[in-house]
Amino acid sequence: MNANDSDWLRRALRSRGFFEASFEDAAIHILNTCSVRDKPEHKVYSELGRIRLLAAQRGEKVTAAVGGCVAQQCGKEIMRRFPEVRLVFGSDGIAMAPEALCRIHDAPRLRLSLLDFCEEYAERPLDMGANAPPAAFVSIMQGCDNYCTYCIVPYVRGPQKSRAASAVLQECRELIARGTKEITLLGQNVNSYGQDDQGDGTGFVGLLHRVAELPGLARLRFVTPHPKDIAPEVVAAFADLPQLCPRLHLPLQSGSDRILKKMNRRYDLARYLDIVERLKKARPEIALSTDIIVGFPGETDEDFAQTMRAMREADFAASFSFVYSDRPGVKAALMPDKVERKTALARLAELQSWQNARMERFLKSRVGGQDAVLLESPSRKPSSQGATWQGRDSYGFALNVHTPDADYTGQLLTVKITSSGKHSLTGKIIEPF
Ligand code: SAH
Ligand code: SF4
Repeated sequence: MNANDSDWLRRALRSRGFFEASFEDAAIHILNTCSVRDKPEHKVYSELGRIRLLAAQRGEKVTAAVGGCVAQQCGKEIMRRFPEVRLVFGSDGIAMAPEALCRIHDAPRLRLSLLDFCEEYAERPLDMGANAPPAAFVSIMQGCDNYCTYCIVPYVRGPQKSRAASAVLQECRELIARGTKEITLLGQNVNSYGQDDQGDGTGFVGLLHRVAELPGLARLRFVTPHPKDIAPEVVAAFADLPQLCPRLHLPLQSGSDRILKKMNRRYDLARYLDIVERLKKARPEIALSTDIIVGFPGETDEDFAQTMRAMREADFAASFSFVYSDRPGVKAALMPDKVERKTALARLAELQSWQNARMERFLKSRVGGQDAVLLESPSRKPSSQGATWQGRDSYGFALNVHTPDADYTGQLLTVKITSSGKHSLTGKIIEPF
């Protein structure tokens, strides 16, 4: 979501005459921030420290702007602590950030703060250039109403607001017209798209079908679904829509029902595994990935053992796992029985070592098979022997191919997979797709 917001901001600023500069030369530093865990939040402060140092070295004023969830959470305080920061903008305020950046650029003493939540999804001009990326993100909603007890998102991104289906479809059409072949629909809980009072009556499954039908779109993905809300029609879409890629990221968070309850996730392991089984029936080649939090308050060795059993049973091809960290204002921060950091880190290491081996096996099992690769950029400088291009396979994993030297951006090619590594595959082009 942040990467998508940053891309948009980059485009919007370019269209207003700004250009990107190195850290040392930039007149304005823009930080788009995440506060979902404490580590990314600390990074913001150390980056602002670097900017202050740079200003001292250059002996002149440097301006900084801080956007995203850390700004939403402690915008005014950031301005107080770091006088270089002259603009803070939150999740909805980003729509007005380009204008605000022009204003602070023109008026060196001006400070602006855009931290209010809007009542409706804050539409922003698309500001697309002539070309769009081969694989693009399209936001379908903002915010979240779920209040998982560990999570800061509902506080920093506000309540759920669905974007009008017409606006989503319009953005998709414009992207496709500029060369996009793959679209990932984005939301904190995509299954509940349209269930607030903001949408135009289209639900998530309806939207999925309408996007899949757009001429010229080869691949469709979405992230993130919540297991409590996955309707049978979403599972059926994996059988019915050939454009929908055979990969689903379905956050489990914990394999222990006791912990899931304390997290307020509102599903149990049996319900989760039932969805997995139905997905595998609908699309036998589907690969699943997940998010896991270890060391949630009160997590015992037995709870963690249940998570490990669940990982094996669901047979995830990949996962993102994190040590629980307290976030300001969330319920879990007040829960007793915090897990010692040493224990949590040991659990994380065990889980990640299982996952790394599983992912390596998954990638290896694909050697000898065929898949389509969507080429995004050259991964190395071309030589007289041709070039190496990187793209994504249908599962979303990185796949490298050797090509005759030419521009392959946005080409969808059939490849035979020839070898696998820890995180990526190598293939040989068979034919244009
Ligand atoms: N909306 C998505 C996830 C959003 S946050 C969902 O519901 O799944 C991305 C991931 O960060 C979460 O899935 C969770 O695994 C992790 N996360 C969120 N809050 C956290 C916290 N306080 N400590 C550690 N990990 C956290
Ligand atoms: Fe956070 Fe839960 Fe909402 Fe995901 S569903 S953003 S984890 S509150």
